Amino acid sequence: MNTEVKFKRIISCTIFSLGVIVNTVGFFASRGMTRCITGIFWFIDLFAFLTFCLWKKKYDAYIKIFMLLFGMVLFPLILYVATLTEQALLYDFIMPSIYAVSIRKKRDIILPVLNGILLSSIAYYKTTIWYAVVFLAIYLFCLLLSSMFSMTLYNNFTELENAYSLLSDVAKKDRLTGIFNRFGLESIIKDKKELPCYAVMLDIDFFKQINDTYGHEMGDEVLFKLGSILKKHASKDFIVSRRGGEEFLLYSFASYEATIDTLMDIYTDIEHGVVIKENDVVKHVHISAGVSVQGFASEELVANADRNLYHSKQNGRNMITARMEPVPIIIKK
Ligand code: GH3
Ligand code: MG
Ligand code: MG
Repeated sequence: MNTEVKFKRIISCTIFSLGVIVNTVGFFASRGMTRCITGIFWFIDLFAFLTFCLWKKKYDAYIKIFMLLFGMVLFPLILYVATLTEQALLYDFIMPSIYAVSIRKKRDIILPVLNGILLSSIAYYKTTIWYAVVFLAIYLFCLLLSSMFSMTLYNNFTELENAYSLLSDVAKKDRLTGIFNRFGLESIIKDKKELPCYAVMLDIDFFKQINDTYGHEMGDEVLFKLGSILKKHASKDFIVSRRGGEEFLLYSFASYEATIDTLMDIYTDIEHGVVIKENDVVKHVHISAGVSVQGFASEELVANADRNLYHSKQNGRNMITARMEPVPIIIKK
């Protein structure tokens, strides 16, 4: 469960359980119309308490409706008919804390302030100007404290969440190509361990020569282009990763035919898109591939793909081996 949801659960439960206590006291200490309204409040608080104990992110919209209902309708009503001004003062503390849950930015404070003005106007109408002034002063003080508290917390949550997602992205993605690294692939495959798949090992042919002839920067550019092509063909059934160096490991959860077809598309894109041009000389970059037997994602399956890749390397490179047989490469237009 994320920290923000936990925080909201704790705050809401505290507030609404306080509401239940206050209303129980109010119910027994008052009579007539006030007792009736306090009773309604009691049920609303209890309902809110139970709902927000089980807070989920999707409830965020409901809390705003709750607040409007509490702040702008029910609470002004109870203050209007209240005979017990002490009980009304208790809400002076509760209402700003309820609002605090939804205050993230300075502008979120407008509605609670308007609410405070409405409530103190009713207090003025019902009692004296001094009661209304004290009421508003306490209300604004509590609002200031609780909103500062909640804005600081929310900012920290946001910073923490951003840092976490950045960290997990950095940890799971390969920096040069932007596709999953070995760790990222493992974390994705974890949920797919029960599904039959094919492991495909890709290795750039004579990559060392590219580095030696054209420099490491060109080598990096070739890796980047190949990564982009693999990313283009990635899907929920076709997961691509850089295993290390100039080796790429793919997992295909599609049929054998669909897997080979995607590989043909990749070979076609490489043929058209990964070329080194120098002094009018165009050099095509080639890759060799090995496709495993069908099985469950594991190092054993990768070893099987690796054996087929070795076969491709041994038999002339720029080649796919599957089922211990070379697969003819058909470059599409
Ligand atoms: P083969 O066809 O048998 O696969 O030969 P190869 O030259 O591709 O394979 P080899 O294992 O001899 O060389 C791989 C080279 O890849 C060696 C290493 O310097 C280079 N390399 C590994 N990672 C990177 C990288 O991130 N950037 C660059 N530019 N080169 C890299
Ligand atoms: Mg190689
Ligand atoms: Mg290699």
